[in-house]
Amino acid sequence: MRLVVTGGAGYVGSVCAAHLVDLGHDVVVIDDLSTGHRDAVPDGCRFVEGDLAEVAGPTLAEGADGVLHFAARSLVGESVQHPERYWHGNVVTTLRLLEAMREHRTPRLVFSSTAATYGEPTRVPISEDAPTAPTNPYGASKLAIDHAISSYAAAHGLAAVSLRYFNVAGAHGGFGERHTVETHLIPIVLQVATGEREAVQIYGEDWPTPDGTCIRDYIHVDDLADAHLLALTHATPGTHRVYNLGSGTGFSVREVIDTCRAVTGHPLPARSAPRRAGDPAVLVASSQRARDELGWRPSRTDIARIVADAWEFAQRRTALEVH
Ligand code: UDP
Repeated sequence: MRLVVTGGAGYVGSVCAAHLVDLGHDVVVIDDLSTGHRDAVPDGCRFVEGDLAEVAGPTLAEGADGVLHFAARSLVGESVQHPERYWHGNVVTTLRLLEAMREHRTPRLVFSSTAATYGEPTRVPISEDAPTAPTNPYGASKLAIDHAISSYAAAHGLAAVSLRYFNVAGAHGGFGERHTVETHLIPIVLQVATGEREAVQIYGEDWPTPDGTCIRDYIHVDDLADAHLLALTHATPGTHRVYNLGSGTGFSVREVIDTCRAVTGHPLPARSAPRRAGDPAVLVASSQRARDELGWRPSRTDIARIVADAWEFAQRRTALEVH
């Protein structure tokens, strides 16, 4: 298929683009490099650098079988401070993309949605029919896009799938997580191991969980990429399906740090810090719908494996940055 990958210079987008190229698809990556990296665009992709709202039309005019839409702003804290960046960068830009797809009759869309659309869960594990009550503009912007996609599918025949990611982690060889401002737990802990940071801060040790630290559901980025490929082939015209993607098992912040200690052999000092605003105590996905309807079978669910792949990438990244 000829596929357009928006945000293909970012973490999840670059890994998915690499999988698509390996499978023989013809891939065009669009990225403005605001947070992505030019050298993260996999070999074999055509690269279009630019503002998605501007370049989507001309790119889709050349013909495409589908769009995988990763390009987005994704920092919860920033979304609270600067909501305009999320309403404009996520919602307005995606509306422009949807219009370009409609104009050029692009038949399929796979959209990167998020567990943040649910907000504080009323029941765990979280299924797709859980109430959506985002607690920050980031989650609200992704939910607004999900609603727009549903109406485009119903009215214009788009074949659409939204994938609601839980905590994406791990790496795919040379493709991994490298944010200028890192906020995610596993890369932060690994920055302590590479000497880029002195200690990790644990945001709250008084949560209502067995060891007092927050519990999250970590999904390997390669399992996530597999789900995108399945979503692409299962997408049905006129339908918008939503799937939660996680491993279905929760690990506490302490368990993650302990796993990082075992994998890296580094003592990884950890310090207690206040709770981070907006953090729910427990987020664990039910991915039963993705298993039943897409036939998705995550195979890299072992947290030590996830951390080991992220660690291998972190070492490559620091070696590259030093030289
Ligand atoms: N966390 C932490 N210290 C850090 C970064 C994150 O204790 O330096 C915690 C955070 O409060 C949350 C969990 O680790 O409970 C996962 O956070 P992350 O930012 O990786 O993902 P989120 O669940 O917010 O999407």
